[in-house]
Amino acid sequence: MSDNNFEIDNAQWYSPTSASPIIDGYRPMMIGAPADQADESYRPLTDGFARRLTYLRLSITDFCNFRCEYCLPNGYQGKRPDDELSVPEIATLVRGFAQVGTKKVRITGGEPSIRRDVVEIIKTIKQTKGIETVAMTSNGYKLGKHLASWQAAGLDQLNISMDSFDAATFYKMTGFNTLPQLLADMDTLLTTTDIKLKINSILMAETAFENLIQAIDYVKDRAVTYRFIEFMQTSDNSDLFFAQHAQSDIITDYLLEHGWQPHQRGSADGPAVEYSHPNYVGRIGMIAPYAAHFCDTCNRLRVSSQGKVHLCLFDQGNYDIRQHLQQNDIAGLVNTLHSFMPIKPEHHHLHDSNSGIMHNLSIIGG
Ligand code: SAM
Ligand code: SF4
Repeated sequence: MSDNNFEIDNAQWYSPTSASPIIDGYRPMMIGAPADQADESYRPLTDGFARRLTYLRLSITDFCNFRCEYCLPNGYQGKRPDDELSVPEIATLVRGFAQVGTKKVRITGGEPSIRRDVVEIIKTIKQTKGIETVAMTSNGYKLGKHLASWQAAGLDQLNISMDSFDAATFYKMTGFNTLPQLLADMDTLLTTTDIKLKINSILMAETAFENLIQAIDYVKDRAVTYRFIEFMQTSDNSDLFFAQHAQSDIITDYLLEHGWQPHQRGSADGPAVEYSHPNYVGRIGMIAPYAAHFCDTCNRLRVSSQGKVHLCLFDQGNYDIRQHLQQNDIAGLVNTLHSFMPIKPEHHHLHDSNSGIMHNLSIIGG
């Protein structure tokens, strides 16, 4: 950790002569500010574009066992860090976020289920006053083994990433031959728990139409939302991106032409537009980060497994808040979160092929 009050990964933002980075002339409030500056503790977070931030996405590890071709095609590189946020640090973090209006926390990664204490993490977040929803995003590898304990810990929602209904394609895309087991485990979830299930699938030109037809069949009698995520370019996946990126309207045009109706999003919801049909129990969703005005309704902040705040998934830097977490300094954390509000970016720059410091999404979750 740096001796300075903030640590950001991008050197060009950092002013070595100042106690905190100066960005566009703005200097965020210092971490560890005296208690009399912490009077704003209960004011909800609202950024410079009047967006209320009620949703925290928390990465608990950047390690992943899968090798998804669009994310970690060569698998996780290097040694898994041994200084991931501890459960007490996560407890402090979430209490601080709850004090500034966070209602929903999503646990993500890397692959969050590889952490041995994931059940304790779910429980800790669920027991935090003010948090209404605990969600997790997972590749589902450990779903069957841990479903009962996740439910007992209080998990409300689970998003499973499943990029194909075809076992051979699933294997090609992830490096794992586990599709039949995953499908069986998701059916067990649907029949034995009240955890709300969504499936995430990356939208690729090659598989889009086949996935859509199979997804429509899948949600006919299942209370599941199957969501396509538009493929986002990062510095690690440019070749595949240019070969496979498809626009969301290849899916949404088909849905509209076949009687599916879009729904309004709730204020704590994710960015998907969901479509329903009177003859189908489940829904089809679309997350389209390249669509116009996608960022207008951004309601989230992200924290990495090392305790760094990312104000936008594709920002140029991040901000170290670990000192607050290590010292159980909730007042300082609340102050610091407020100080970020004027500098949360208005939107990403993916249209300029600029994904900031996000080389792949396992760094902090999609
Ligand atoms: N390992 C977990 C999983 O796969 O669900 C959580 C982390 S993963 C990075 C979160 C989501 O990001 C997954 O649904 C994945 O498909 C999505 N994702 C990864 N790379 C992406 C990319 N380049 N464009 C769009 N979505 C991506
Ligand atoms: Fe792992 Fe998720 Fe990335 Fe696939 S998308 S490599 S499961 S982090």
